Amino acid sequence: MRILKIQTLRGPNYWSIRRNKLIIMRLDLENLAETPSNEIPGFYEGLVEALPSLEGHYCSPGCRGGFLMRVREGTMMGHIVEHVALELQELAGMHVGFGRTRETANPGIYQVVIEYLNEEAGRYAGRAAVRLCQSIIDRGRYPKAELEQDIQDLKDFWRDASLGPSTEAIIKEAEKKGIPWMPLPARFLIQLGYGIHQKRIQATMTNNTGILGVELACDKEATKRILDANGVPVPRGTVINFFDDLEEAVEYVGGYPIVIKPLDGNHGRGITIDIRTWEEAEAAYEIARQVSRSIIVERYYVGRDHRVLVVNGKVVAVAERVPAHVIGNGKSTIAELIEETNKDPNRGEGHDNVLTKIELDRNSYQLLDRQGYTVNSVPPKGDICYLRATANLSTGGSAVDRTDEIHPENIWLAQRVVRIIGLDVAGIDIVTSDISRPLRELDGVIVEVNAAPGFRMHVAPSIGKSRNVAGAVMDMLFPHDQSSRIPILTVTGTNGKTTTTRLLAHIYKQTGKVVGYTTTDGTYIGDFLVESGDNTGPQSAHVILQDPTVEVAVLESARGGILRSGLGFENANVGVVLNVSADHLGIGDIDTIEQLAHLKSVVAEAVFPDGYAVLNADDQRVAAMAKKTKANIAYFTMNPDSELVRKHIQKGGVAAVYEHGYLSIVKGDWTHQIERAENIPLTMGARAPFMIANALAASLAAFVQDVTIDQIRAGLRSFRASVSQTPGRMNLFNLGKHHALVDYAHNPASYEALGSFVRNWTTGQRIGVVGGPGDRRDEDFVTLGKLSVDIFDYIIVKEDDDTRGRPRGSASDLIAQGITQARPNYRFESILDETSAINKALDIAPEGSLVVILPESVSRAIKLIKIRGIQEDIQPQQ
Ligand code: ATP
Ligand code: ATP
Ligand code: MG
Ligand code: MG
Repeated sequence: MRILKIQTLRGPNYWSIRRNKLIIMRLDLENLAETPSNEIPGFYEGLVEALPSLEGHYCSPGCRGGFLMRVREGTMMGHIVEHVALELQELAGMHVGFGRTRETANPGIYQVVIEYLNEEAGRYAGRAAVRLCQSIIDRGRYPKAELEQDIQDLKDFWRDASLGPSTEAIIKEAEKKGIPWMPLPARFLIQLGYGIHQKRIQATMTNNTGILGVELACDKEATKRILDANGVPVPRGTVINFFDDLEEAVEYVGGYPIVIKPLDGNHGRGITIDIRTWEEAEAAYEIARQVSRSIIVERYYVGRDHRVLVVNGKVVAVAERVPAHVIGNGKSTIAELIEETNKDPNRGEGHDNVLTKIELDRNSYQLLDRQGYTVNSVPPKGDICYLRATANLSTGGSAVDRTDEIHPENIWLAQRVVRIIGLDVAGIDIVTSDISRPLRELDGVIVEVNAAPGFRMHVAPSIGKSRNVAGAVMDMLFPHDQSSRIPILTVTGTNGKTTTTRLLAHIYKQTGKVVGYTTTDGTYIGDFLVESGDNTGPQSAHVILQDPTVEVAVLESARGGILRSGLGFENANVGVVLNVSADHLGIGDIDTIEQLAHLKSVVAEAVFPDGYAVLNADDQRVAAMAKKTKANIAYFTMNPDSELVRKHIQKGGVAAVYEHGYLSIVKGDWTHQIERAENIPLTMGARAPFMIANALAASLAAFVQDVTIDQIRAGLRSFRASVSQTPGRMNLFNLGKHHALVDYAHNPASYEALGSFVRNWTTGQRIGVVGGPGDRRDEDFVTLGKLSVDIFDYIIVKEDDDTRGRPRGSASDLIAQGITQARPNYRFESILDETSAINKALDIAPEGSLVVILPESVSRAIKLIKIRGIQEDIQPQQ
């Protein structure tokens, strides 16, 4: 068994629209190709021994143990690998349920599809599953130690990728509200929403968080000074830089007990509180010095520690933080009680869980000493024994929700403090004996204000209600259901995607909006090129969706991108499917046109239920996609008598129709004539029917997005597919005496399309210079020859310079065969050298004729034409 390829899908895809995190493994079963599991001695037993929990997989029998039953009765190894890969992830705590296994057209080669939560874990699980199965095949077992290592590795992937509890709380809330999010490739930044409507967060800082507020909050001394100046109660204290100043500082704050802490520390690092002697103070100074140069010396205030969370000017949660402690049971030692407490599955390392494991530090021993204990003491039942002086969750503390108890005056004070510091999200640390009474009355103080406060004590307090503080952040970022999205319009099909995408983007620009679009030629924002190249994959979609200026996204979705990684977004507002015809069959395990249609239908299916699938009513396979999508349907057709479209309109549907020389939108009883095809340059004087179809599709997609008919008309009239923008795509040149057309038609459907234009050329002879890349199948050349006789009056057959492994003369012979088979007496000649062939055709072309060139090198062909002096007007005369 051998893994041939592993791909990671990250969006709606061939296998599933909803389950869009999938690993695809192409697996060669090799010598197992014909051996089902029941024919491998000991396999079933070995598998059950290694992974008894596979019992929980229902599989096709639909009951517990269903999958193992299949293994016992005999199933293929690909299918087993799928279940094992899912189970390994499950055992590592990642709940995944979706899997598929299909044999490809190549016998023994399977596609194994497994869901993942974490990409790396998913790929690892796939490889580990193959290893596990192979080991059972070879040795009858998979060593327990290896399995444990696999599971540990998977857990590590999952943990390393976790974003932290606060970020995760916000993301979960975004998902609940249907707001898309994506990680940006820097500084743990997360983007919420798309394009111009995006917001950003980094932990609990947002794009509304001001740098002045953050810097002020990070400087504890400055915070205190400014609060003090505003009459807010803060600890009496001072800052020192030298040990020699410590004694004076203690005196200044009014003597012991005192607190010593680093000026710019956090998470309780370097802090010692309740210092009662000079020796303790000396030691505390040293500890604080390890964190910061400047040291705060403060009066120690007796009381409980509270965190008040203020979001967007409002107190949204209050937690009391209780320092790490254990409660005696009269039997266990303190060390044993700690061990017991740390077994709580909610306690993890650092910030990766709801609580953190308790660890003892120097202060802990001092604290125990003060309470009259050592770690080996057995405290009486019910006695609370503190192990840490400060209450940070990250040092093993816990939290009690007090949101409903805080006194209104304290609410007012907290909200005022946050205004004074200037933060949109802030955590205020308050020491007071009772938060339900005004601070003033109890000599309570505000110890500090935190920018980027952690959420986990509010989201998952050890005692009390969980508070939806992330919801408050989302309401601030996206108030009153303010949109987080921009319209996404996608275009797919076998032919015409780039043209239609460009035209649609151009039409949309008439609304004055900033349009971002991606095509096989490049990625564009507004009138400018961002980068050139084939940009139809999800990465390019992300360039558009991440751009903070883009108001509308128009995205060409090519088969390769959907196949390799899925769509780059979960839903679109409009999905246009132009056509489906044979092209690139046999690549990427897409072997039939039905499979190709299924692949393209991803674009229609990923449309929101209130969006529109814009479908070609004249292409059966495309029209059939109407049944698969939950979205509204809009049809376009070149055939005014289309039965399908007539019925659709009768039922109140919307359509774009070409009728009486006009492109029109029909909706209910209304017909909006947009423009005469002749006035739309792209249609080449109404002579290129496929371009009319593309224009109908683009107009309709714009119309269902509320672009006005006037704007659509303006767009259609002003759009020109210039040679420089789209070289090789229906580039027509006026050479005065006659015209020349360069097109890179590369499949039978596009020859047909080209033919429909050429046949409409009525002012003179039609001469074709034809050939094709050598790696096409023999029959494709014959077909090209056959099709050509119906398009041209005279043909020159040529070959590419690079014959791609084919003997010179073979391709041209096959084309010639096609020609003579179709029409035995047809006049043509073969000139293998492309340059000579093109020159010959241009030389012999009579007045008013059209020379059509399907070149290997588009730029060379255009150069050969331009040498002859082209005229400005590249539009054909009517
Ligand atoms: P965090 O980042 O977790 O908020 P920090 O490192 O910024 O912690 P502080 O908030 O200044 O440190 O102090 C930590 C805790 O120590 C406070 O929440 C409070 O319980 C206690 N504390 C700090 N200063 C005093 C003080 N002057 N009197 C009483 N307790 C104090
Ligand atoms: P690619 O797969 O190379 O990205 P594409 O789908 O983006 O192609 P375009 O670049 O718009 O297609 O057009 C390529 C060629 O396909 C055109 O020059 C023309 O010959 C042909 N073509 C364009 N539109 C259609 C159509 N609706 N039906 C058939 N052929 C078309
Ligand atoms: Mg603090
Ligand atoms: Mg394209």
